[in-house]
Amino acid sequence: MINKILRSILTVAIIVQIASLLIITSVLYRYFGDIQISQLKDGLSLASRAMEQLGESYLESLNYDRYRLTWVSSDGKVLFDSHADAATMENHADREEIKEALTSGTGSSIRQSPTMTELTIYEAILLKDGSILRMSAKRDTVFSLVLGLLQPIAMILLIASILSAWLAHGMAKRVVEPLNKLNLEKPLENDAYEELSPLLRRLHSQQMEIKSQMRKLKYKEDEFDQITGNMKEALVLLDNTGRILSINPAARKLFNAEITCIGEDFLTIERKLNMRLALEEAKKQGHADFRDLKKGREYQFDLSRIDSEGNHHGMVILAFDVTEQVNAERNRREFTANVSHELKTPLQSIIGSAELMESGIVKEDDVPRFVRHIRSEASRLVYLIDDIIQLSQLDEGTEMPHEDVSLKVLAEEVFEVLTDAAKLKDVSLEVIGDDGVVNGVRRLLYVVIYSLCDNAIKYNIPGGSVKVSITQKTGSVCLSVQDTGIGIAPEHHEKIFERFYRVDKSHSKQSIGTGLGLSIVKHAAQYHNGIISVESKLKKGTKISILFDTKEQ
Ligand code: ADP
Repeated sequence: MINKILRSILTVAIIVQIASLLIITSVLYRYFGDIQISQLKDGLSLASRAMEQLGESYLESLNYDRYRLTWVSSDGKVLFDSHADAATMENHADREEIKEALTSGTGSSIRQSPTMTELTIYEAILLKDGSILRMSAKRDTVFSLVLGLLQPIAMILLIASILSAWLAHGMAKRVVEPLNKLNLEKPLENDAYEELSPLLRRLHSQQMEIKSQMRKLKYKEDEFDQITGNMKEALVLLDNTGRILSINPAARKLFNAEITCIGEDFLTIERKLNMRLALEEAKKQGHADFRDLKKGREYQFDLSRIDSEGNHHGMVILAFDVTEQVNAERNRREFTANVSHELKTPLQSIIGSAELMESGIVKEDDVPRFVRHIRSEASRLVYLIDDIIQLSQLDEGTEMPHEDVSLKVLAEEVFEVLTDAAKLKDVSLEVIGDDGVVNGVRRLLYVVIYSLCDNAIKYNIPGGSVKVSITQKTGSVCLSVQDTGIGIAPEHHEKIFERFYRVDKSHSKQSIGTGLGLSIVKHAAQYHNGIISVESKLKKGTKISILFDTKEQ
């Protein structure tokens, strides 16, 4: 900036200097020209008087260094000339100053020399005898004057320019200094130049605007961080070169990455081929998705390109844990297949027996046995359908009316129903412990106790026992059904709660069972926030317990 000011001042100074020099030269040229003319006039007047008194001899006695004198007769003939031979000179009657002097007594004219570097000033006067005396002098033209003065002018210009440059430098520094000292952080606190006030005020208002925008941006950023921070889904934002702009905690956990990975290429934290292919596809098509196993769980990856005004700005990668969904889908598929199979088996058996009877192959004595078989298979179907209905109700999670239910009272009711079955198996039944009041769905709690006791009888040994004990504590009720039956090997402990899972198919066949009882128990327990556990030893017996949380009831 200093240089610019310096250049401007210097240019102005030089122009002013040249213009001043030209004006002064022209004024002086005129001034001295006028003096020269008046001197010429005075000289001519004196010479004319002397001439009239002394005659031609006066003309010859003079020294003609600075002037030229010419004496011309009234008809224009040159009678005398101080610088040339008068006889050889041409007639001067047509000269302007001569003609003027002849008519008005005096005459003057200025003529340019052929070289153009000089002017000749002529003054003429009419003498008493009618002749004319003319005096002339040379004068430089402006051009030749300037040419002659070129060297001193150049010197003056040079000195003036150096002086101007020195002064201009100091001036420019003084002008710029307050600008350099401006505090742009606090524009309104500056006191530099009056003219800068509008600019500083504008700067201040813009700073305020930027600050408010920054605050809003920070707020949005915090909001975004909070939302994405609490998300279960993994979220990664990439810029258009594939570098990480943002990565939420769930994504950091999924990709084993640190927060420091922001700014790095996403492929440094996830190198898998399917991810690279999906990124390329999303870049081209705008969207891509795939499923992949990570840390033993199945994830759905969704990649979407971020476009704005026709430009590609980056990518959003979203990963959902779909393990539960996949399992549920598989379970549903397996369940449907199992249901069809389980329904088909007793139906085929019923149809087979009925056909045999219809065809008359069955002997009269065997008819009751066939009828019993048909009945037993039909009841198996009914049990199965009942269990399926129960399960699907629990699957749907429909709200059912709750009430305070004593588990002990329920167990006693169940025992009443199962007495015959127990007697048939020679198994004793016992219920001990507290009332065990649980706020729940009576029908479901009944099914839980019934299924557990039914199994405890079914899988018991003759002379065995079934003991239902209920322990009530503050905030919890524990129900356990313990038998002295065949027991369950440890590898089956978890699986017995799966739908249609039966430990020993051959043994199970002998007893009416659907393989759905314990899954209904587990579901119903979960519906009541109960935790189910199994303790069992082969040939020693089984104890299945449910711990109900009654704190929030
Ligand atoms: P099921 O209708 O076959 O009894 P469940 O779902 O009630 O079906 O039980 C699943 C399997 O768990 C049974 O087939 C049986 O093999 C085993 N089981 C359940 N309860 C007991 C128990 N008290 N003692 C031994 N085995 C049991």
